[in-house]
Amino acid sequence: MSDDNTSMWKNLGLDLKAHDVLLGVLGQAYQDIYLSQENRPRGMEYFDFVMSEIHGLRIKELLDEKEKKRKIIGSYCVFVPEEIALAANATLVGLCSGADFAVEQVEKYLPRNTCSLIKSSFGFKLAKVCPYLECADMIVGENTCDGKKKAYETMGTLVDNLYVMDLPQMKSDNGRKLLRSEYDRFKSAVEELTGVEISVDSLKEAIRTVNEKRAAIHRLSQLRIADPVPISGLDALLANQVFFYDNPARFTQSVNKICDELEERISKKKGVFPEKTPRILFSGCPMAVPNWKLPWIVETSGAVIVGEESCVGERGTRNLTDDSGKTVDALMDAVADRYFKIDCAIFTPNQDRRDHILEMTRAYKADGVIHYGLQFCQPYNMESIPVEKLLEEEGIPCLRIETDYGMEDVGQIKTRVEAFIEQIQD
Ligand code: SF4
Ligand code: SF4
Repeated sequence: MSDDNTSMWKNLGLDLKAHDVLLGVLGQAYQDIYLSQENRPRGMEYFDFVMSEIHGLRIKELLDEKEKKRKIIGSYCVFVPEEIALAANATLVGLCSGADFAVEQVEKYLPRNTCSLIKSSFGFKLAKVCPYLECADMIVGENTCDGKKKAYETMGTLVDNLYVMDLPQMKSDNGRKLLRSEYDRFKSAVEELTGVEISVDSLKEAIRTVNEKRAAIHRLSQLRIADPVPISGLDALLANQVFFYDNPARFTQSVNKICDELEERISKKKGVFPEKTPRILFSGCPMAVPNWKLPWIVETSGAVIVGEESCVGERGTRNLTDDSGKTVDALMDAVADRYFKIDCAIFTPNQDRRDHILEMTRAYKADGVIHYGLQFCQPYNMESIPVEKLLEEEGIPCLRIETDYGMEDVGQIKTRVEAFIEQIQD
């Protein structure tokens, strides 16, 4: 690590020793899981570079932005509109929460039976190892599942810049009204933070920037329909994960560049795995960096992942925002309309999600679905049962996996995944 990085991390108040441990674990996992893959598209070198500089160059960029009076907003959920942040001259970054850290300390604040994602967000704060969290001028929490809702009350005692967004639980007119008014409240809070009033032009431009980023990811997803699949599920997941904290324009350009290469691969029938490799759709809880356990198990067991029905995946990116409005109000309406379609399991009822899983299974020609639920996540684990039932009725095999960020159950999961792959191969 360069001295520059070390002093940057020190100035951010990171615990350098604990941070070294985190970077060591992250680097090793990336080496073992990502760099050991064969036949990767050349364009993935960009993402390898991003990952190697995840706490280095990108943080330096964010600090340079702060020098120029731009604000940084950290978020934990795909309901926080990047369009509003960008339009007010702020940068939105995802606060990943994909690894266990400082578990003993965390359990002094949260019950043991809290999902790994929430525990991880506390672990990164308590252990002082996340430069994104430490450089954020505002941290946005949201009233989604009960776990998060209550955890943010405690999180508010650990950070002094937490903003909590209320979210609807039903797709009703009242639900839509609540979301729209909460986005107005968020807009005012961001304008106050940055001192920049959002205009028609700035909001339109922000919508276009985010739409382009989403369109690039849609293009990548569509290319995974091909057989042989031109990119591994692990690499596609990585692109979806980097979506949350890279510079938007650079990200769009890099994903489109990979797509050009993938089109060339498809025309030559070149894949990462042989033709007719069993194809799996993932569905369920978000997989934040560096949570690569289940895709790694699946793709080293003889199958390929062809899509993610997940917030780090299509649930988070699938719809674009209409940019044709002529007033800030009309554009804000369009933003609310776009986000109101997100079919998170916190909604009741949530038939849209079931329909979407079926639609994705067919569109990506998946042979089976693996439903991924984090242990103690009631919304997704509860929904996994009707999801499985629906898929069974449609003759689509489904495997429900409930796990956490620990590696103790890898052997047991691998055995179940191998048996499932054998079943869908027949
Ligand atoms: S699963 Fe729900 S609460 Fe979690 S990030 Fe997605 S939308 Fe937000
Ligand atoms: S994984 Fe489930 S329990 Fe955990 S934060 Fe997301 S919705 Fe809540």
